[in-house]
Amino acid sequence: TTTTARKMSLTTKIMLGMVLGVAVGLIANRIGSPFIDEQIVGGLFAMVGKMFVNALKMLVVPLVIFSLLTGVMGIGDIRVLGRVGGKSFALYILTTAIAIAIAIGIALLVGPGQGFVMEGVDASGVTAAEAPSVWEVFANIVPGNPVAAFTNGDMLQIIFYVIVVGIAAVMLGEESAGFARACEYMNELMMKVVGIVMHFAPYGVFCLIAKVFAEQGIDLFVPVLAYVATLVGSLFLHLFVTLMVILKVFSGLNPVPFMRKIRPAQLFAFSTASSNATIPVTMRCVTERMGVDNSVASFTVPFGATINMDGTAIMQGVATVFLANVYGIDLGLGGYLTVIAMAVLASIGTAGVPGVGLVMLTMVLTQVGLPVEGIALILGVDRLMDMIRTAVNITGDAVVSTIVAKSEGKMDLAVYGDPAAGDAES
Ligand code: ASP
Repeated sequence: TTTTARKMSLTTKIMLGMVLGVAVGLIANRIGSPFIDEQIVGGLFAMVGKMFVNALKMLVVPLVIFSLLTGVMGIGDIRVLGRVGGKSFALYILTTAIAIAIAIGIALLVGPGQGFVMEGVDASGVTAAEAPSVWEVFANIVPGNPVAAFTNGDMLQIIFYVIVVGIAAVMLGEESAGFARACEYMNELMMKVVGIVMHFAPYGVFCLIAKVFAEQGIDLFVPVLAYVATLVGSLFLHLFVTLMVILKVFSGLNPVPFMRKIRPAQLFAFSTASSNATIPVTMRCVTERMGVDNSVASFTVPFGATINMDGTAIMQGVATVFLANVYGIDLGLGGYLTVIAMAVLASIGTAGVPGVGLVMLTMVLTQVGLPVEGIALILGVDRLMDMIRTAVNITGDAVVSTIVAKSEGKMDLAVYGDPAAGDAES
């Protein structure tokens, strides 16, 4: 119980860092002194924030490699691996599609952007990204150069390569015993390093948040308030209602402990705006706090960070409706179905790093024939929206990880703290 108390207090500290960060950032924004802007916000805060994000990123690749190797060797059965992969893929696609469909529905009802007067928007520097074809996305899952995949942190390629190596190790049988023990040890070691980094989280989070608010202020939000309100409303609905219903329906688990246990990962995701950088924390929350077995989490979490982006998909939906209203263009049912398909496909091929949602949006807009320059309208508020949607993205990853683990009997319900869930299972 002492560790629980310490963990709780760390979460509280991180939250405190966040709240203080908002306050200090807004004050710095008001003061507007060049010294504060350059030395404190752009200097000190930027440095500490960057250090913290770097520290998280340095954990991702080694952690994924060793936990995944441990996981694959732990399962040791190709059919089970295939089942875990298939289930999580299907659920990731399903949740993303539900997310964006609901978001488009809400946006169409609320109608943000109707009667919007466009003026003084700087559209320079907005260029459309080319959407990769589905074929290309799948072809690129196989890394021609695994070392390059590791250095670039290309998650899908890393996952693919590590699973193949893990299967080979399983095939070697007894000969792999030493290797398996070494991987287990490395996995444990990396988890310890995650713990070390997390102790610096309150300061890192404070600096990241203060910097965002000092640089952005709140004036930016006024002109696009309808967009922001619709988007944030849709994101919260997905986070607190849709995902929790999905968790309950598919796993029978009580969503209340889930919400409490995922919070540290949400705070990290919010502060870093990167699902990838949050992988170590998501993994820790899902395994140590919720009781999901590493053999499932080591695959589903990094996989989800790359292919599952519910929050980002919601943003695509709301932004398309908003811009369609601004330009007075009716996309029709076909247009919106295209948006759904595009957003789901694009989220598979793109990594969970900051700002990716905007790039995806250029693809989606081009596909349905809306002017890409429209993005300039929402550019100013996108950082904060990115932070919120990333928290939604990783929550979706954790929900699917939990569902898959529960269905595979790879979950320690005592750790989850929901003994009643055992009875709900039929
Ligand atoms: N930052 C998001 C993520 O890492 C992606 C995005 O919406 O830009 O999940």
